[in-house]
Amino acid sequence: MNLLIRDAMIVTQDENRSVVEGNLFIEDGIITHVGNSADTSDIVVDAKGGVVIPGLINTHTHVAMTGFRGLLDDLNLEPFLEKTFKLDSGRTDQDIRDSTLLSLHEMISGGTTSFADLYYSEDLIARACSDVGIRAFLAWVTLDKEITTQEGDPVKNAERFVKNWRNNDLITPMIGVQGVYVCSEETILSAKDVAAELNTGMHMHLCETRNEVYGHVSKTGKRPVEWLEQIEFLDGGIGLLAAHGAWLTKGEMRTLRNAHVSIASCARSNMKIGSGIPPVKELIDEGVVVSFGTDSATTSNNLDMFEEMRAASLLQKVSKWDASVLPASQVLDLATREAAKSLGAFGAIGSIEIGKRGDVAVIEKSSMRMAPLSRANAVNQIVYSAQSSDVTSTIIDGKPVYSERRFT
Ligand SMILES: [Zn+2]
Repeated sequence: MNLLIRDAMIVTQDENRSVVEGNLFIEDGIITHVGNSADTSDIVVDAKGGVVIPGLINTHTHVAMTGFRGLLDDLNLEPFLEKTFKLDSGRTDQDIRDSTLLSLHEMISGGTTSFADLYYSEDLIARACSDVGIRAFLAWVTLDKEITTQEGDPVKNAERFVKNWRNNDLITPMIGVQGVYVCSEETILSAKDVAAELNTGMHMHLCETRNEVYGHVSKTGKRPVEWLEQIEFLDGGIGLLAAHGAWLTKGEMRTLRNAHVSIASCARSNMKIGSGIPPVKELIDEGVVVSFGTDSATTSNNLDMFEEMRAASLLQKVSKWDASVLPASQVLDLATREAAKSLGAFGAIGSIEIGKRGDVAVIEKSSMRMAPLSRANAVNQIVYSAQSSDVTSTIIDGKPVYSERRFT
Protein backbone atom coordinates (compact mmCIF):
# COMPACT_ATOMS: atom_id res chain seq x y z
CA MET A 1 0.00 0.00 0.00
CA ASN A 2 1.33 3.45 -0.97
CA LEU A 3 0.52 6.72 0.74
CA LEU A 4 1.20 10.21 -0.55
CA ILE A 5 1.12 13.35 1.57
CA ARG A 6 0.68 16.21 -0.86
CA ASP A 7 1.52 19.92 -0.56
CA ALA A 8 3.40 19.82 2.74
CA MET A 9 6.07 21.79 4.56
CA ILE A 10 8.15 18.84 5.81
CA VAL A 11 10.13 19.37 9.02
CA THR A 12 12.37 16.37 8.42
CA GLN A 13 14.47 16.42 11.62
CA ASP A 14 17.24 14.89 9.53
CA GLU A 15 20.95 15.44 10.26
CA ASN A 16 20.77 19.01 8.84
CA ARG A 17 17.27 19.70 10.23
CA SER A 18 16.11 20.38 6.66
CA VAL A 19 12.65 21.83 6.12
CA VAL A 20 11.48 21.09 2.57
CA GLU A 21 8.30 21.86 0.68
CA GLY A 22 6.60 19.31 -1.53
CA ASN A 23 5.27 15.76 -1.28
CA LEU A 24 6.10 12.85 0.99
CA PHE A 25 5.75 9.30 -0.31
CA ILE A 26 5.49 6.19 1.86
CA GLU A 27 5.62 2.74 0.25
CA ASP A 28 4.61 -0.32 2.29
CA GLY A 29 5.29 1.56 5.52
CA ILE A 30 8.71 2.90 4.44
CA ILE A 31 9.47 6.52 3.47
CA THR A 32 10.73 6.48 -0.13
CA HIS A 33 10.57 10.14 -1.25
CA VAL A 34 10.90 13.37 0.73
CA GLY A 35 10.00 16.59 -1.12
CA ASN A 36 9.78 15.29 -4.67
CA SER A 37 7.56 12.41 -5.60
CA ALA A 38 4.77 11.28 -7.86
CA ASP A 39 1.45 13.03 -7.45
CA THR A 40 -0.76 9.96 -7.26
CA SER A 41 -1.02 7.04 -4.88
CA ASP A 42 -3.41 4.45 -3.40
CA ILE A 43 -4.08 6.87 -0.55
CA VAL A 44 -3.61 10.63 -0.75
CA VAL A 45 -3.51 12.91 2.28
CA ASP A 46 -3.72 16.57 1.29
CA ALA A 47 -1.69 18.58 3.81
CA LYS A 48 -2.92 21.85 2.17
CA GLY A 49 0.38 23.60 2.88
CA GLY A 50 0.44 22.38 6.49
CA VAL A 51 3.47 21.20 8.42
CA VAL A 52 4.44 17.52 8.48
CA ILE A 53 6.60 16.45 11.41
CA PRO A 54 8.01 13.11 12.52
CA GLY A 55 5.43 11.51 14.81
CA LEU A 56 5.98 12.64 18.40
CA ILE A 57 7.35 10.03 20.81
CA ASN A 58 6.07 10.00 24.40
CA THR A 59 8.75 8.12 26.36
CA HIS A 60 6.97 7.66 29.66
CA THR A 61 3.34 6.98 30.37
CA HIS A 62 0.87 4.55 31.90
CA VAL A 63 -1.94 4.42 29.34
CA ALA A 64 -4.12 2.09 31.40
CA MET A 65 -4.36 4.71 34.17
CA THR A 66 -6.32 7.28 32.15
CA GLY A 67 -9.47 5.83 33.71
CA PHE A 68 -8.29 7.37 37.00
CA ARG A 69 -8.03 10.87 35.48
CA GLY A 70 -9.33 13.49 37.89
CA LEU A 71 -9.40 11.04 40.81
CA LEU A 72 -5.86 11.46 42.11
CA ASP A 73 -5.17 15.17 41.89
CA ASP A 74 -3.33 17.39 44.39
CA LEU A 75 -1.53 14.50 46.10
CA ASN A 76 2.16 14.04 46.85
CA LEU A 77 3.71 10.89 45.36
CA GLU A 78 3.42 8.65 48.44
CA PRO A 79 -0.35 9.10 49.04
CA PHE A 80 -0.78 9.13 45.26
CA LEU A 81 0.85 5.68 44.94
CA GLU A 82 -1.07 4.35 47.93
CA LYS A 83 -4.40 5.33 46.32
CA THR A 84 -3.27 4.10 42.90
CA PHE A 85 -2.36 0.66 44.23
CA LYS A 86 -5.78 0.49 45.93
CA LEU A 87 -7.64 1.46 42.72
CA ASP A 88 -5.44 -0.93 40.68
CA SER A 89 -6.37 -3.90 42.85
CA GLY A 90 -10.06 -3.59 41.88
CA ARG A 91 -9.65 -3.37 38.11
CA THR A 92 -11.00 -5.73 35.48
CA ASP A 93 -9.39 -6.55 32.14
CA GLN A 94 -12.13 -4.50 30.48
CA ASP A 95 -11.24 -1.45 32.63
CA ILE A 96 -7.65 -1.73 31.49
CA ARG A 97 -8.60 -2.09 27.82
CA ASP A 98 -11.06 0.83 27.94
CA SER A 99 -8.52 3.12 29.61
CA THR A 100 -5.88 2.09 27.12
CA LEU A 101 -8.11 2.70 24.08
CA LEU A 102 -9.01 6.14 25.41
CA SER A 103 -5.32 6.97 25.82
CA LEU A 104 -4.32 5.67 22.40
CA HIS A 105 -6.97 7.77 20.65
CA GLU A 106 -6.00 10.84 22.67
CA MET A 107 -2.33 10.39 21.76
CA ILE A 108 -2.94 9.70 18.08
CA SER A 109 -5.22 12.74 17.69
CA GLY A 110 -2.35 14.83 19.08
CA GLY A 111 0.30 13.59 16.66
CA THR A 112 1.93 10.98 18.90
CA THR A 113 2.89 7.88 16.93
CA SER A 114 5.02 6.00 19.49
CA PHE A 115 5.04 5.74 23.25
CA ALA A 116 6.76 3.90 26.09
CA ASP A 117 4.57 2.44 28.81
CA LEU A 118 5.15 0.99 32.26
CA TYR A 119 2.41 -1.09 33.87
CA TYR A 120 1.23 -4.61 34.55
CA SER A 121 -1.19 -6.41 32.16
CA GLU A 122 0.87 -5.18 29.23
CA ASP A 123 -0.49 -8.11 27.21
CA LEU A 124 -3.93 -6.42 27.24
CA ILE A 125 -2.31 -3.09 26.38
CA ALA A 126 -0.29 -4.67 23.55
CA ARG A 127 -3.48 -6.17 22.11
CA ALA A 128 -5.21 -2.75 22.15
CA CYS A 129 -2.17 -1.08 20.52
CA SER A 130 -2.10 -3.73 17.86
CA ASP A 131 -5.84 -3.29 17.19
CA VAL A 132 -5.49 0.50 16.90
CA GLY A 133 -2.16 0.47 15.01
CA ILE A 134 0.12 2.57 17.23
CA ARG A 135 3.82 1.88 17.79
CA ALA A 136 4.48 0.97 21.42
CA PHE A 137 7.40 0.10 23.70
CA LEU A 138 5.67 -1.71 26.53
CA ALA A 139 7.42 -2.60 29.77
CA TRP A 140 5.74 -5.05 32.14
CA VAL A 141 6.40 -3.65 35.59
CA THR A 142 8.17 -5.75 38.22
CA LEU A 143 8.33 -5.18 41.97
CA ASP A 144 8.55 -7.33 45.09
CA LYS A 145 6.08 -10.23 45.10
CA GLU A 146 4.94 -9.45 48.65
CA ILE A 147 3.51 -6.04 47.76
CA THR A 148 2.31 -6.34 44.18
CA THR A 149 -1.35 -6.36 43.11
CA GLN A 150 -0.36 -8.67 40.22
CA GLU A 151 -1.30 -12.32 40.29
CA GLY A 152 1.80 -14.51 40.49
CA ASP A 153 5.43 -13.43 40.30
CA PRO A 154 5.88 -10.08 38.50
CA VAL A 155 9.28 -11.09 37.07
CA LYS A 156 7.84 -14.30 35.62
CA ASN A 157 4.84 -12.34 34.27
CA ALA A 158 7.20 -9.85 32.58
CA GLU A 159 9.26 -12.68 31.10
CA ARG A 160 6.15 -14.38 29.68
CA PHE A 161 4.96 -11.08 28.18
CA VAL A 162 8.26 -10.41 26.39
CA LYS A 163 8.39 -13.94 25.01
CA ASN A 164 4.82 -13.65 23.66
CA TRP A 165 5.23 -10.27 21.96
CA ARG A 166 8.83 -10.06 20.81
CA ASN A 167 8.20 -10.69 17.13
CA ASN A 168 5.65 -7.97 16.47
CA ASP A 169 6.18 -5.11 13.98
CA LEU A 170 4.62 -2.38 16.12
CA ILE A 171 5.10 -3.67 19.66
CA THR A 172 8.46 -3.82 21.41
CA PRO A 173 8.05 -5.65 24.73
CA MET A 174 10.39 -4.66 27.56
CA ILE A 175 11.03 -5.43 31.21
CA GLY A 176 9.85 -2.76 33.67
CA VAL A 177 10.76 -1.88 37.24
CA GLN A 178 8.44 0.21 39.42
CA GLY A 179 11.29 1.81 41.37
CA VAL A 180 13.94 1.17 44.01
CA TYR A 181 11.37 1.90 46.75
CA VAL A 182 9.43 -1.32 46.05
CA CYS A 183 12.18 -3.57 44.72
CA SER A 184 14.68 -5.62 46.71
CA GLU A 185 18.15 -6.24 45.30
CA GLU A 186 17.02 -9.75 44.40
CA THR A 187 13.92 -8.56 42.50
CA ILE A 188 15.66 -5.85 40.53
CA LEU A 189 18.61 -8.07 39.58
CA SER A 190 16.36 -10.92 38.47
CA ALA A 191 14.43 -8.42 36.30
CA LYS A 192 17.75 -7.35 34.78
CA ASP A 193 18.77 -10.97 34.17
CA VAL A 194 15.54 -11.68 32.31
CA ALA A 195 16.00 -8.56 30.16
CA ALA A 196 19.59 -9.59 29.33
CA GLU A 197 18.59 -13.15 28.58
CA LEU A 198 15.78 -12.05 26.25
CA ASN A 199 17.92 -9.24 24.81
CA THR A 200 15.34 -6.55 25.47
CA GLY A 201 15.35 -3.08 27.04
CA MET A 202 14.24 -1.92 30.48
CA HIS A 203 12.11 0.98 31.70
CA MET A 204 11.82 2.21 35.29
CA HIS A 205 11.05 5.14 37.56
CA LEU A 206 14.22 6.65 39.01
CA CYS A 207 14.90 9.55 41.36
CA GLU A 208 11.46 11.11 40.95
CA THR A 209 11.17 12.74 44.37
CA ARG A 210 13.39 13.88 47.22
CA ASN A 211 11.64 11.34 49.49
CA GLU A 212 12.58 8.51 47.15
CA VAL A 213 16.25 9.52 47.27
CA TYR A 214 16.50 10.14 51.02
CA GLY A 215 14.27 7.15 51.85
CA HIS A 216 16.74 4.99 49.98
CA VAL A 217 19.68 6.63 51.74
CA SER A 218 18.14 5.79 55.15
CA LYS A 219 17.40 2.22 54.05
CA THR A 220 20.67 1.35 52.29
CA GLY A 221 23.13 4.17 53.02
CA LYS A 222 23.25 4.92 49.29
CA ARG A 223 21.40 7.19 46.90
CA PRO A 224 19.39 5.20 44.29
CA VAL A 225 21.90 5.57 41.44
CA GLU A 226 24.86 4.78 43.74
CA TRP A 227 22.99 1.71 44.97
CA LEU A 228 22.17 0.54 41.42
CA GLU A 229 25.85 0.93 40.57
CA GLN A 230 26.94 -0.94 43.70
CA ILE A 231 24.67 -3.94 43.09
CA GLU A 232 25.94 -4.01 39.46
CA PHE A 233 22.50 -3.33 38.02
CA LEU A 234 24.03 -0.76 35.66
CA ASP A 235 26.75 -3.10 34.34
CA GLY A 236 26.78 -4.83 30.98
CA GLY A 237 25.34 -2.17 28.64
CA ILE A 238 21.85 -2.35 30.10
CA GLY A 239 19.39 -0.64 27.72
CA LEU A 240 17.59 1.34 30.39
CA LEU A 241 15.12 4.17 29.91
CA ALA A 242 14.65 5.82 33.31
CA ALA A 243 11.70 8.12 33.94
CA HIS A 244 12.02 11.42 35.82
CA GLY A 245 15.62 11.75 37.07
CA ALA A 246 14.50 14.89 38.88
CA TRP A 247 16.90 14.36 41.81
CA LEU A 248 20.38 13.58 40.51
CA THR A 249 23.87 14.82 41.33
CA LYS A 250 26.34 15.62 38.56
CA GLY A 251 28.28 12.48 39.50
CA GLU A 252 25.14 10.36 39.16
CA MET A 253 24.44 11.90 35.75
CA ARG A 254 27.92 10.82 34.63
CA THR A 255 27.30 7.32 36.01
CA LEU A 256 24.06 7.12 34.02
CA ARG A 257 25.73 8.42 30.87
CA ASN A 258 28.54 5.88 31.15
CA ALA A 259 25.95 3.11 31.57
CA HIS A 260 24.03 4.43 28.51
CA VAL A 261 20.93 5.07 30.61
CA SER A 262 18.57 7.61 29.03
CA ILE A 263 16.13 9.84 30.91
CA ALA A 264 12.46 10.41 30.11
CA SER A 265 11.85 13.78 31.72
CA CYS A 266 8.27 14.54 32.78
CA ALA A 267 8.06 18.27 33.48
CA ARG A 268 4.31 18.58 33.98
CA SER A 269 4.05 15.51 36.19
CA ASN A 270 6.96 16.73 38.32
CA MET A 271 5.33 20.15 38.67
CA LYS A 272 1.88 18.75 39.47
CA ILE A 273 3.14 16.30 42.10
CA GLY A 274 5.50 18.93 43.47
CA SER A 275 8.48 16.62 42.91
CA GLY A 276 11.03 19.15 41.76
CA ILE A 277 12.55 20.65 38.65
CA PRO A 278 14.17 18.03 36.40
CA PRO A 279 17.79 19.00 35.61
CA VAL A 280 17.32 18.65 31.85
CA LYS A 281 20.03 21.15 30.89
CA GLU A 282 22.58 19.53 33.20
CA LEU A 283 21.72 16.04 31.94
CA ILE A 284 22.20 17.12 28.32
CA ASP A 285 25.43 18.94 29.21
CA GLU A 286 26.71 15.69 30.77
CA GLY A 287 25.89 13.78 27.58
CA VAL A 288 22.81 11.88 28.78
CA VAL A 289 20.15 11.19 26.13
CA VAL A 290 16.99 12.99 27.30
CA SER A 291 13.44 12.81 25.96
CA PHE A 292 9.96 13.76 27.19
CA GLY A 293 7.18 11.74 28.79
CA THR A 294 3.76 12.91 29.87
CA ASP A 295 3.60 10.32 32.66
CA SER A 296 0.04 9.13 33.25
CA ALA A 297 -3.08 11.25 32.84
CA THR A 298 -3.52 11.00 36.61
CA THR A 299 -0.56 13.33 37.15
CA SER A 300 -0.32 15.48 34.02
CA ASN A 301 -4.05 15.05 33.26
CA ASN A 302 -3.52 14.50 29.55
CA LEU A 303 -1.13 12.77 27.18
CA ASP A 304 -0.48 15.89 25.13
CA MET A 305 3.07 16.07 23.82
CA PHE A 306 2.64 19.66 22.56
CA GLU A 307 1.88 20.76 26.13
CA GLU A 308 4.74 18.64 27.40
CA MET A 309 7.27 20.15 24.99
CA ARG A 310 6.24 23.68 25.86
CA ALA A 311 6.16 23.11 29.63
CA ALA A 312 9.55 21.38 29.61
CA SER A 313 11.13 24.31 27.82
CA LEU A 314 9.49 27.03 29.92
CA LEU A 315 10.36 25.27 33.18
CA GLN A 316 14.05 25.11 32.25
CA LYS A 317 14.11 28.75 31.17
CA VAL A 318 12.51 30.10 34.33
CA SER A 319 14.57 27.92 36.64
CA LYS A 320 17.81 29.14 35.01
CA TRP A 321 16.63 32.75 34.49
CA ASP A 322 17.81 32.27 30.92
CA ALA A 323 15.54 32.34 27.84
CA SER A 324 18.18 30.65 25.67
CA VAL A 325 17.99 27.35 27.61
CA LEU A 326 16.25 24.46 25.81
CA PRO A 327 15.40 26.39 22.60
CA ALA A 328 12.61 25.27 20.25
CA SER A 329 14.89 23.30 17.90
CA GLN A 330 16.33 21.31 20.80
CA VAL A 331 12.86 20.69 22.28
CA LEU A 332 11.66 19.18 19.00
CA ASP A 333 14.84 17.09 18.83
CA LEU A 334 14.11 15.64 22.28
CA ALA A 335 10.53 14.77 21.30
CA THR A 336 11.61 13.06 18.06
CA ARG A 337 15.29 12.15 17.41
CA GLU A 338 16.46 11.82 21.01
CA ALA A 339 13.30 9.95 22.03
CA ALA A 340 13.92 7.43 19.26
CA LYS A 341 17.53 7.03 20.41
CA SER A 342 16.40 6.50 24.00
CA LEU A 343 14.34 3.54 22.78
CA GLY A 344 17.11 2.14 20.57
CA ALA A 345 14.91 2.82 17.56
CA PHE A 346 16.59 5.74 15.77
CA GLY A 347 17.31 3.53 12.77
CA ALA A 348 13.55 3.25 12.18
CA ILE A 349 11.83 6.34 13.61
CA GLY A 350 12.52 9.86 14.98
CA SER A 351 13.05 11.69 11.67
CA ILE A 352 11.56 11.85 8.19
CA GLU A 353 14.21 10.25 6.00
CA ILE A 354 14.25 7.77 3.15
CA GLY A 355 14.31 4.25 4.53
CA LYS A 356 12.65 5.06 7.87
CA ARG A 357 9.17 3.94 8.90
CA GLY A 358 6.33 6.23 7.83
CA ASP A 359 5.37 7.71 11.23
CA VAL A 360 4.32 11.35 10.75
CA ALA A 361 1.79 13.94 11.87
CA VAL A 362 0.20 16.72 9.82
CA ILE A 363 -0.42 20.11 11.46
CA GLU A 364 -2.85 22.38 9.67
CA LYS A 365 -1.65 25.59 8.10
CA SER A 366 -5.01 27.30 8.56
CA SER A 367 -4.75 27.14 12.37
CA MET A 368 -4.54 30.72 13.60
CA ARG A 369 -1.83 29.63 16.01
CA MET A 370 0.45 28.64 13.12
CA ALA A 371 0.35 32.08 11.48
CA PRO A 372 2.58 33.52 10.23
CA LEU A 373 4.23 30.37 8.94
CA SER A 374 7.48 30.03 7.00
CA ARG A 375 10.24 27.46 6.73
CA ALA A 376 12.30 29.66 9.03
CA ASN A 377 9.82 29.71 11.94
CA ALA A 378 7.97 26.39 11.51
CA VAL A 379 9.75 24.66 14.41
CA ASN A 380 9.15 27.61 16.75
CA GLN A 381 5.44 27.63 15.86
CA ILE A 382 5.19 23.89 16.55
CA VAL A 383 6.92 24.07 19.94
CA TYR A 384 5.67 27.38 21.34
CA SER A 385 2.32 27.96 19.69
CA ALA A 386 0.66 24.90 18.17
CA GLN A 387 -1.81 22.80 20.12
CA SER A 388 -2.50 19.11 19.75
CA SER A 389 -5.90 19.98 18.27
CA ASP A 390 -4.06 21.54 15.30
CA VAL A 391 -3.07 18.03 14.20
CA THR A 392 -5.32 16.93 11.33
CA SER A 393 -3.80 13.57 10.37
CA THR A 394 -1.53 11.01 11.99
CA ILE A 395 0.13 8.31 9.93
CA ILE A 396 1.73 5.31 11.64
CA ASP A 397 3.79 2.79 9.70
CA GLY A 398 2.44 4.28 6.50
CA LYS A 399 -1.19 3.90 7.54
CA PRO A 400 -3.50 6.89 8.09
CA VAL A 401 -4.72 6.00 11.58
CA TYR A 402 -6.22 9.49 11.98
CA SER A 403 -7.21 11.43 8.87
CA GLU A 404 -8.93 14.84 8.53
CA ARG A 405 -9.59 14.65 12.30
CA ARG A 406 -11.37 11.30 12.04
CA PHE A 407 -10.16 7.96 13.30
CA THR A 408 -9.98 5.54 10.42
ZN1 LIG B 1 5.37 7.07 35.84
